[in-house]
Amino acid sequence: MKKHNFNAGPSILPREVIEQTAQAILDFNGSGLSLMEISHRAKDFQPVVDEAEALFKEILEIPDGYKVLFLGGGASLEFCMIPYNFLIKKAAYLNTGVWAKKAMKEAKNFGDVVEVASSAADNYIYIPKGYAVPADADYFHITTNNTIYGTELKKDPNSPIPLIGDMSSDIFSRPVDVAKYDCIYGGAQKNLAMAGVTFVIVKEDKLGKAPRTIPTMLDYRTHVEKGSMFNTPPVVPVYSALLTLRWIKAQGGVKEMDRRAQERADMLYNEIDRNKLFVGTVKEEDRSRMNICFVMKPEYAELEKEFMEFATSKGMIGIKGHRSVGGFRASCYNAMPKESVQALIDCMQEFENKH
Ligand SMILES: *Cc1c(COP(=O)(O)O)cnc(C)c1O
Repeated sequence: MKKHNFNAGPSILPREVIEQTAQAILDFNGSGLSLMEISHRAKDFQPVVDEAEALFKEILEIPDGYKVLFLGGGASLEFCMIPYNFLIKKAAYLNTGVWAKKAMKEAKNFGDVVEVASSAADNYIYIPKGYAVPADADYFHITTNNTIYGTELKKDPNSPIPLIGDMSSDIFSRPVDVAKYDCIYGGAQKNLAMAGVTFVIVKEDKLGKAPRTIPTMLDYRTHVEKGSMFNTPPVVPVYSALLTLRWIKAQGGVKEMDRRAQERADMLYNEIDRNKLFVGTVKEEDRSRMNICFVMKPEYAELEKEFMEFATSKGMIGIKGHRSVGGFRASCYNAMPKESVQALIDCMQEFENKH
């Protein structure tokens, strides 16, 4: 039976990216060696990093003055590297969920942290609006897509100070106004690559301002100077990221990814709103296109387990909601074909007809 992969992360990747990565693991570029057993300094590997950076810049239309890094440690390490490198006195954070809170917690080790607004009291079912960003803070940190709660900013907000964005779960799903940001980062394992690599887009002239000694590995300047090759980068994940970038470009870039994301989200939210059994958990205007969260309506609550089993029997994978929301979460990242979304919709309709 065909499996439809709605995993929240690590998650679906284009089939050809998986096949080409597998091929490179057997024989990289006809070298007779596996990608796993070559030096990251081998003449064949430098072009991988160079092309991955060039494609990042091309696809996202990154202006001059920014460097793209491929690091280890996940988005979670960036939560600490961001304030280490950018927080001089005070930083502003928008509290839109678990990841935002974790980012804020790390920043508190380095200076004043202003929580500009929060939707915690309502279990993060919306993105706060109408807040004021303090103009004297060093940066304004946002999580553009909240993977757990299924809310998404979808537009780069206006801010009197530079933005820093955690784009772990929506990178390359829409055009981004990179010029508004001093830094954009994310773990690659949701929308870009296999787990193991973290991407960082950083504005070079904003580095070196923080009044503290930064450990070498946590200083972005180290990695900027060495082109992500200060130490051994995660070779295979970087290669898989490059393959996904080539795939995105060949499909039509972020414009096409944007169109597909909207199409998938429209299909699935329309069904959630129409189906008598289900209800969405997020305020309509803030619904994420990447992580679509829904629960049984209260009067059908006892059917949750049965639907889970039914959907699983039809090949749906990874639709169990995060424990802090419950119900269901269908993650629909860039590589998700609309046929899989249709299969989930068919499943919801068939289940509705049974009840
Ligand atoms: C998954 C996720 C993280 C954590 O990423 P790691 O790479 O596992 O550290 C951070 N932020 C967001 C928005 C995420 O979805």
